[in-house]
Amino acid sequence: MTLSAIELKRQFPILHQQVNGHPLVYLDSAATSQKPLAVLEKLERYYKEYNSNVHRGVHTLGTRATDAYEGARERLARFINAKEPAEIVFTRGTTTAINMVAWSYARTVCGEGDEIVLTPMEHHANLIPWQQAAKATGATLKYIPLREDGSIDLAEAEKVITQRTKIVALSYLSNVLGIVNPVKEIIAIAHRNGAKALIDGAQSTPHMKVDMLDLDCDFYTLSGHKMCGPTGIGALYGKRELLERMEPVEFGGEMIDHVDLYEATWKEIPWKFEAGTPIIAGAVGLSAAIDFLNEVGLDDIEKHDKMLAAYAYDRLSGMEGVTIYGPKEGRSSLVTFNLDDVHPHDVATVLDAEGVAVRAGHHCCQPLMRWLKVTATARASFYLYNTEEDIDRLVASLQRAKEYFSHAIG
Ligand code: PLP
Repeated sequence: MTLSAIELKRQFPILHQQVNGHPLVYLDSAATSQKPLAVLEKLERYYKEYNSNVHRGVHTLGTRATDAYEGARERLARFINAKEPAEIVFTRGTTTAINMVAWSYARTVCGEGDEIVLTPMEHHANLIPWQQAAKATGATLKYIPLREDGSIDLAEAEKVITQRTKIVALSYLSNVLGIVNPVKEIIAIAHRNGAKALIDGAQSTPHMKVDMLDLDCDFYTLSGHKMCGPTGIGALYGKRELLERMEPVEFGGEMIDHVDLYEATWKEIPWKFEAGTPIIAGAVGLSAAIDFLNEVGLDDIEKHDKMLAAYAYDRLSGMEGVTIYGPKEGRSSLVTFNLDDVHPHDVATVLDAEGVAVRAGHHCCQPLMRWLKVTATARASFYLYNTEEDIDRLVASLQRAKEYFSHAIG
C-alpha cells in the first residue's frame, strides 16, 4: 500500500456507516469524492466565525472572508502551478468553466472554415458547449479517432489538428476509460498549428499532480467536489492574455469598474468573470481540501490510485463474463465494466444491496458508449480512502450478482 488508506479513511465520517445492513464500500468517487473532517470543520468554522460578503465590507468579518476567499485562489494557483492567482477564475465547476470558454473565447476566434477538435471520449461537459459554439460561429467540429482500446493515437492527432484548428479540447483522465491522455503532446501539436488547447481536468486534478506551466495548456478546468472539496466550487485556469481578451459571460454586481446608465466597464481578471456574490464558502472548503491533498501528497495519491485501478483490472478481468472497457496500461482510479447479459443498472442495484456503491449508466458520455457499442456500463472508481479489501468486496458481490442473474435468467 503506497499510503495508509485505512488511516485516511478514519478522516471521512461518511464512510463509517452501514448501508443495507453492510459496511459501506464507496466506489463512486469519479462522480463525487467524499469530504474529510478537515474540510467539514473548516466550512463549519467559516459559517460560525467569519461568514460575510467579500470585496465590499470594511468590517473585520468582511476582511477575514475576503482574505480566505482570495487566499483560496492563491492556494489553488500554487496547487496547479499557475503563473499567478489572477489566472484562476472561480466557477461552479468544470461544466461552467468549459461553457465560459466555449461561449466567450470561441466566439471571438472561430468563424466559417475554422475547426474545433475534440475526442470521442469527452464528457458531455466538454462536448455540448463546443457543439453550441460551432453552431453559433459556423466552425466545424472534428474528432481525433481512437485506437481500438480507446487510447489516443498521436499520429491521428497530427492529421486532425491543422492550421484550420482554433481550439483543441480534451480530457486529461477519461471518466469512462480510466486512461491518462497524452495531453502535453497534444497541446504541443495544437500550438504548432496556431490553436489553443483546453484540458478538462475534472478527473485528473484529484488523482495526480498537474502543472500549468509544464503542460503549457491555454485553459484548464477542475471541479472541487471531485477532489475532497465541497460541491458548487471549481475553477477555470486561463493564461492571462487569453482571459484578458475574453468578455465576461455574466454581468452584474462585483464584476464592474464603472457603471453609467447606458454603459459599464469591467474589473481586471479574474474578478470580471465573477459577477454577484461569489462562492465564498465553496472556495474556503476547496482551500482546506487542497491543504489536505498536499498533506497526503499528490505523488502518493497518484501511485495509490493507479495501484487500485491495476488491482481492480486484474481481479475483474479474472472473472468470466466480465468485459472491461479501456486499456490495461496507463490507467488510473477507475474501472468500467459490464456483466454479460445483465443491464448495469441491475448490477449496481444488486451491489448496492450489499453496501457496495458503484455508478451505472452512460456516465455523461453517450457518443463514447456508442463507440464502445454499449448503451451503458457499470463503473467502480477509487480514491485515497479505498483499499484492496474494498475491491475484494466488489468482486465478491459481483460474483454473487452473477450467480443470482444466471439463476434468474435460467
Ligand atoms: N469532465 C469529466 C471528465 C467529468 O468526469 C465530469 C464529471 O463527472 C465533468 C467534466 C463535469 O464536471 P462537473 O459536473 O463537476 O461540472
